[in-house]
Amino acid sequence: MLTIRPHQADRLLKATGKLIGKTPLFLIRHAFNKANVRIYAKLEWLQLGSSVKARPAFHMISQAVASGELTSYRHILDATSGNTGIAYAAIGARLGIPVTIFMSETASKERSTILKALQTNIIYTSAPTTGDEAQQMALSLFKKQPNRYFHINQYGNENNWKAHYQTTAQEIYRQTRGRVTHFVAGLGTTGTLVGTGRRLQELNPAIRLIALQPDVSTHLLEGWKHLGSSTAPAIYDASLAHQTLAVSTEEAYEWIKRVAVKEGLLLSPSSAAALAGAVQVAEQIDEGIIVTVFADSADKYGEVINSLF
Ligand code: PMP
Repeated sequence: MLTIRPHQADRLLKATGKLIGKTPLFLIRHAFNKANVRIYAKLEWLQLGSSVKARPAFHMISQAVASGELTSYRHILDATSGNTGIAYAAIGARLGIPVTIFMSETASKERSTILKALQTNIIYTSAPTTGDEAQQMALSLFKKQPNRYFHINQYGNENNWKAHYQTTAQEIYRQTRGRVTHFVAGLGTTGTLVGTGRRLQELNPAIRLIALQPDVSTHLLEGWKHLGSSTAPAIYDASLAHQTLAVSTEEAYEWIKRVAVKEGLLLSPSSAAALAGAVQVAEQIDEGIIVTVFADSADKYGEVINSLF
């Protein structure tokens, strides 16, 4: 592991920042069609670490490096369903900062493969990583060795939602030329909805915010957290969304198949679930421009894809 000096950190952060965000907005043309309604999705896998989590991971890490709390001598420590861990590991490798994560043993095989290749220390838990237990485990490890670890805590770190406030929302507003009417996002740490939603509301208070939830606690939508059966993340603002809609795993799987055939995109379960939610919104309205986020592609979900096709 290389040691990065403060003057180098600045330069490396700047270079790494060029690989974060600025993702294309994809128009759903054939998988869904309704006159006067358009659905767009941000293709968030087209950045470092191949998921939406590049944005918050980069912002949380760069703020901690800038404040001097995080150096090459401490590990970035967190509980993650995988994507945040991969983003930490990719950014950490570039900055010479080691990464330790708590991850569910049920997380997809590809996640482990990628994380191992990126030299991440993985502590597997039988608890779901989006649940409270894995977060408590990360916190207690940090408390035991506060000099060795930096508990970055994506569920409570304000720089998680601020990343979306500063980047995702601006991009969506600009890419739709300010014509976005609805923003729809699934809830994991809730950073995407909270940050993007807050900024979009400032840019145009008429924009409607729709939060998506898995229909049951036993869902297979990796990355989504069922708030009804667990504590809401500290960064969540329950008053922000105008509406909350439920999406089932089965519904998401149907959209994976449909979008593959009609649009040539292979979506992850949570991206397909986001589209299912956007379609529910489209069915409620007569006109509008709905934007959602495709958090990642099917690349890390080989087993699901094999079972569907
Ligand atoms: N989908 C996937 C695949 C994810 O990894 C995450 C992040 N856990 C989300 C959706 C939800 O995003 P957020 O944490 O910003 O709510």
